[in-house]
Amino acid sequence: MLSGLKRLWLHSEFNESAELLAKKLDDHRQFSGNVFLFGAFLGASLWIWDYVTDPAGAEETVLYRLVFFILLPVPLIIRKLNRPYLLAAVAFILIALTLADYVLILTHLKQGMLYGIGGFMFYMLLPPIAFAAFPLTANVLSILLIAAIPHLLALAGFADGFEHANYAVLIWPGAAIAIIIQYFYAKDYHRRYRLEKALERLSYTDTLSGLYNRRFFMDTFREAVKEAGESSQPLAVMIADIDRFKAINDRYGHPAGDEVIRTLSLLLHRELRAADTVARIGGEEFGVLLPGTGAKEASAIAERLRTAAESLQVAQMKAADAVTISIGIAVFEENDTAETLFKKADSALYRAKRSGRNRISVTVAD
Ligand code: GH3
Ligand code: MG
Ligand code: MG
Repeated sequence: MLSGLKRLWLHSEFNESAELLAKKLDDHRQFSGNVFLFGAFLGASLWIWDYVTDPAGAEETVLYRLVFFILLPVPLIIRKLNRPYLLAAVAFILIALTLADYVLILTHLKQGMLYGIGGFMFYMLLPPIAFAAFPLTANVLSILLIAAIPHLLALAGFADGFEHANYAVLIWPGAAIAIIIQYFYAKDYHRRYRLEKALERLSYTDTLSGLYNRRFFMDTFREAVKEAGESSQPLAVMIADIDRFKAINDRYGHPAGDEVIRTLSLLLHRELRAADTVARIGGEEFGVLLPGTGAKEASAIAERLRTAAESLQVAQMKAADAVTISIGIAVFEENDTAETLFKKADSALYRAKRSGRNRISVTVAD
């Protein structure tokens, strides 16, 4: 029973990851902030309503109406703070204060409780619109509390003649609708979020090998070179290329060639550290970034990869036909850019190929 409930929770729209919440906040900061801004002015300007209802009483409600301006800092807080739950709590507390203030306003007006009851509907609209940046759990809780606050204030004696029944038949269906809207909105956001993540992953992944693609490699490479330039950390880059791959394709067919690429990709991924970046940067060419790695260590890693590739088994190929790779290595030196460093590794690869293949070559400082 308990595990069933837990599963239900984990698969529900209420289970929002920290990453999703951060993005949700980012996506809606401006929108939510502006609604609060608008809400502050709307709340204050509805003094006109007080005046229409009861001109004499309205003289007393002017100051109370100004309390709505406590919502003014909310857009600023939303822009600066990156804690979705804390933000929701701050926003809710400020709204609860304006709500208590609204109850006080109504008690100052003749028949205010009766005439002003519709005003509470505005509060039901607020979370579905203004809380778009916040977690669903916080929003649903906010609606329930916002709907309950006038009841509670009346029970505590703050609002004489509060029509609990009239209020309840107006507000609770409104609260239910507000919750349903929020739920479906969160569901929709989840779907969009997953889609965006999938598209993002596609944009940096190579489909055949599952490794990063060339664009991601070059972007990461530029970042790594910049970092190496700013710190005293070494950086090594390798380019590995399958030897005589054309011959493998010619002999076993293109699908077998694809299988060689896949198997080798798996090997590279397995053999390298999590901090390293390995990508398929061309047909049968792989780029590897080794942050914090000098020439000696990089050579040892490359040698290990080379021998591992030699003993690779590919189902479609005869065991006697080994897959071999050649690797060019270069290490970052002052004033190197990603382009110059890449060129050095490429020249090293060319040397490895020319001197017989199935070997590694390092470009060292002159
Ligand atoms: P070298 O040792 O000098 O690197 O010789 P090579 O034959 O590996 O190099 P070359 O550049 O002449 O040929 C590379 C071949 O890789 C040609 C191309 O048909 C093949 N190739 C490129 N991409 C793919 C792919 O995705 N799948 C398969 N099966 N073959 C590919
Ligand atoms: Mg090749
Ligand atoms: Mg090549």
